[in-house]
Amino acid sequence: SFIESFCMSVTLAQIPSHDKNGEEPLEERCQRILQEMEGSLTARDRVGIQDFVLLDAYTSETAFMDNLRKRFNENLIYTYIGTLLVSVNPYKELGIYTKKQMDIYMGVNFFELPPHIFALADNVYRTMISETNNHFILISGESGAGKTEASKKVLQFYAVCCPSTRLLDNVRDRLLLSNPVLEAFGNAKTLKNDNSSRFGKYMDIQFDHQGAAVGGHVLSYLLEKSRVVHQNHGERNFHIFYQLVEGGEDELLRWLGLERNCQNYRFLIQGECAKVSSINDKSDWKTVQKALTIIEFSEKDIEHLFAILASVLHLGNVQFGASALGYATLNNSAELLGIPSNMLREGLTHRKIEAKAEEVLSPFTAEHAKYARDALAKAIYGRTFSWLVNKINESLANKDSTRKTVIGLLDIYGFEVFDVNSFEQFCINFCNEKLQQLFIQLTLKSEQEEYEMEGIEWEPVPYFNNKIICDLVEEKHRGIISILDEECLRPGEATDFTFLEKLEEKMCGHPHFVTHKLADQKTRKTLERGDFRLLHYAGEVTYSAAGNCLLLFKVMRQSKNSIIQHCFHAIEPDGKKRPETVATQFKSSLSGLTEILMTKEPWYVRCLKPNHCKQPDRFDDVMVRHQVKYLGLMEHLRVRRAGFAYRRRYEVFLKRYKALCPDTWPHWKGTPAEGVQRLIKHLGYKPDEYKIGRTKIFIRHPRTLFATEDAFEI
Ligand code: ATP
Ligand code: MG
Repeated sequence: SFIESFCMSVTLAQIPSHDKNGEEPLEERCQRILQEMEGSLTARDRVGIQDFVLLDAYTSETAFMDNLRKRFNENLIYTYIGTLLVSVNPYKELGIYTKKQMDIYMGVNFFELPPHIFALADNVYRTMISETNNHFILISGESGAGKTEASKKVLQFYAVCCPSTRLLDNVRDRLLLSNPVLEAFGNAKTLKNDNSSRFGKYMDIQFDHQGAAVGGHVLSYLLEKSRVVHQNHGERNFHIFYQLVEGGEDELLRWLGLERNCQNYRFLIQGECAKVSSINDKSDWKTVQKALTIIEFSEKDIEHLFAILASVLHLGNVQFGASALGYATLNNSAELLGIPSNMLREGLTHRKIEAKAEEVLSPFTAEHAKYARDALAKAIYGRTFSWLVNKINESLANKDSTRKTVIGLLDIYGFEVFDVNSFEQFCINFCNEKLQQLFIQLTLKSEQEEYEMEGIEWEPVPYFNNKIICDLVEEKHRGIISILDEECLRPGEATDFTFLEKLEEKMCGHPHFVTHKLADQKTRKTLERGDFRLLHYAGEVTYSAAGNCLLLFKVMRQSKNSIIQHCFHAIEPDGKKRPETVATQFKSSLSGLTEILMTKEPWYVRCLKPNHCKQPDRFDDVMVRHQVKYLGLMEHLRVRRAGFAYRRRYEVFLKRYKALCPDTWPHWKGTPAEGVQRLIKHLGYKPDEYKIGRTKIFIRHPRTLFATEDAFEI
């Protein structure tokens, strides 16, 4: 009978009676509870399941998508896969980030409340405190998926919820205010996102032994410098330029020789959208100003900073042609940069050729001069950005030398595929490849280690290991970057085509590399001469070698202009060694990042973008499915589920479910492990459903836990 089966899972004593005197007849009581249970099942049907691991058809992508969509339609944007947080951008304010919400999530276990970014932040924090170790949260997803917003929520949570003192309030404010400054200089409106981060950011938050935030450190990667001189249609330059022109005080603009009209500056209007309805440059300017003072930029620093920005704008207006340059604007630029204008002019329009013992100045073509101008503008901005990051770091630095634990936040831009993909996309996508590799290593590693530590057997899951693609790019002497280096540094005739030829020769037959010669055999899509294609883990991308990297490197190397040389890093580190190319530098800064991350415990937030139109309440199935695929969510789920879907420390498990067994409720006197054994015996767990580890219970099927949860809900 239903009463019997019911009693199997629930002790009747635990079922609250509706009747105040406790006289509700048993049968009625059960009937009522069953109805309530059904009610909760419908609710589950409606809002989906809050952890994908608990999905019955866990390996099915369709079931995964159904659950995600269901929850999204109910404004439930967060779902777990174990401890990984999946988030779907709602494109609307949900009112779920208030102080009250923070309080609710503070100190609560993962599964006791609906999934939330605060729950993750809180769990990372508490694990850090209790285990005194370092952690990082890797936030990934494509442009506009909500990575930066997520990282800001985490930072806010720590700022509000960690213990603080008056002195520390200072640190907290600077940590928080570093964001608007970095965003002003490093974010821009793109077609995909009105506030798109055009640099990768890794931020360490340092905590003392009492758990107070005492300092921080920012590392930036791959600022998209090309944006300074060129923007695609519908896109803007970095926010700060518009903020300066729109919001800068009259006196300041006068001093900088600027007019309050973005239309006057070539670098600001190539995308033909200087004004964006969702952005208020004027008020953002005020925020940035305030932030700069609180981060302790001196007046002089701030002055110089704006002078540099203005000089870049003036530089953009310098024209070369049959007639001479626009001298006035060049003079403006030189003055603001603090260099003699004739030197700047010479540097932009001539190159030095060493002939015998003499130096001869040979004039650039107009085309060349434009190239030099843009290169200089990019370099100035890039250097200034690095300086800014350093400055912020000085201000966030914690002078006290006692041991700190840290939580790192990594918000790095996702995989990029455009119609024409250049060297910049190559670097970004390689970075994502490396992070995927790290994810694979850390997830599988920690999973295996855990089973080992707990003395439990398990069978590894097959998964696609993208190491082969990482090697293709970075392997010493054989990888693409090595070949690029060789070609760049080879004196003489190297061109984009010789580079491609070398690639073809060396990579021929590699399963993830396609050149135009091999294109037809491998994929049906043809390739232009001058292109090569990589089959990344997240999909294929065609890169254009022509007119890109190599030309850039060559010009950098040939330039005798010291500014350009200096800014383009084409300097020889010890004066003699071969110069490092940008690609090699990037490779080593990525290795640095990987090293930083390898020593920390990983947590993941995977952000999904629900539609291309930045609109609320629209869930584009095809688009989301693609992201689920390349973010490796199904793989992660499979790994999670491969051995045992769930594991809980005995104390935690007992604390949560002890009410389900009269022996363990309300107090269990023995060890937690014994308590759990007693409890699961009472619940009727079958031997093959669970395993007893050293400190944790492992449950194979989610259904088992599900049933227990159900019983508990009643
Ligand atoms: P990019 O790679 O281009 O930097 P991103 O992943 O950092 O993209 P965000 O800038 O975080 O994307 O988000 C884009 C926009 O989506 C935000 O400006 C905001 O309007 C909206 N958004 C993101 N997350 C949320 C959220 N949790 N709640 C409400 N709106 C959000
Ligand atoms: Mg961003």
